[in-house]
Amino acid sequence: MNPASAPGTITPVSIHADRGAGRLEIGWADGHATVYDTTALRWLCPCAYCRGEAGMPGWLDSAPTLTEEQTRLVDVALVGGYAIAPTWGDGHHTGYYTYALLRDRCPCPECSERRSGRQPTPGRSHEEHA
Ligand SMILES: [Zn+2]
Ligand SMILES: [Zn+2]
Repeated sequence: MNPASAPGTITPVSIHADRGAGRLEIGWADGHATVYDTTALRWLCPCAYCRGEAGMPGWLDSAPTLTEEQTRLVDVALVGGYAIAPTWGDGHHTGYYTYALLRDRCPCPECSERRSGRQPTPGRSHEEHA
């Protein structure tokens, strides 16, 4: 079982928005540290406007050029103990980033490796249960 998906470990013990450096730093209960630059965080916005809904593509799906305002972190609100809601320089604030999402998309080398490792390799057919 992947320890990152076990209940209780996907809980931040610290969330620090470094607006000057343009970073969001999250410390997790299991000791892991996640650092997002705010541009990467903006691209992850999970809201219906950015991501689309009911089969319709969202704004981010059109690969827009993000302005400085759109990637400037103004504030971070905690949402019900399971998510954070950043407010951006352009006023956008409807994206609820769950802790699970933030941990799952952690950009550190360790987590990047974990993500690439769990993707099925296309074109391989010699598996045991064939
Ligand atoms: Zn959004
Ligand atoms: Zn990580």
